[in-house]
Amino acid sequence: MKSPIRYLLLLVSIICLLSSCRNEEDLSDFKLAEEQGNAEVDLSLAGYFQNFETEALKRGIVIDLDALNVSGEFQEISEDGVAGTCTYGSHQPGQIVIDQTFWNQAGFFLREMIVFHELGHCALMLDHREGQNADGTCASIMRSGLEACRDNYQALTRADYLDELFGQSR
Ligand SMILES: [Zn+2]
Repeated sequence: MKSPIRYLLLLVSIICLLSSCRNEEDLSDFKLAEEQGNAEVDLSLAGYFQNFETEALKRGIVIDLDALNVSGEFQEISEDGVAGTCTYGSHQPGQIVIDQTFWNQAGFFLREMIVFHELGHCALMLDHREGQNADGTCASIMRSGLEACRDNYQALTRADYLDELFGQSR
C-alpha cells in the first residue's frame, strides 16, 4: 500500500524567474484536495487564459483550461525575481500564481509571456526548452532563464513564439 506521502513527493513545483527559472519540489505549495473541482481564475488573468485557448485552437490544439481545472491567482511571491509559478501533482490540477508586484509593473507582452510560460507547464505539461537564435534572443518562451538568451516576446515575434510553444505540445 502506498502512503499518502508518496503522492506528496510527486508534487512538482516549477518556479519561474524573470532572470532565472528552475524546477524544484516544494511541498509548501501543496493545497488541500478540497480546493479541487472548481478552479478559480482571477479576473485579470481570465483574458490571458482565454487567449491561450484561442491561440492553441488556431494551431489545431484544443485546450479547455476549465476542464483541466487550472487555477490562476495573484500573490506577493517573496523570492526575489520570481514572476510566476506553476504547481501541479499527479492528483492535483495545475495552480498558477503570478507575482502581484511583477504584474503591476509589466506591460501586455511581458504579462502574456509569463502567463503563457506557466500555462506551458500547467496545461501543455511542457518542460523548459533552452536555446537561442542567431541574434541571441531566446528560441522559446519556455526558456529556463538559466541560460543567457534575451527575451524578445513582442508584437512582431508573438506569432512565431506561439507557433514554437504549441508546436512543442504536438
Ligand atoms: Zn518555467
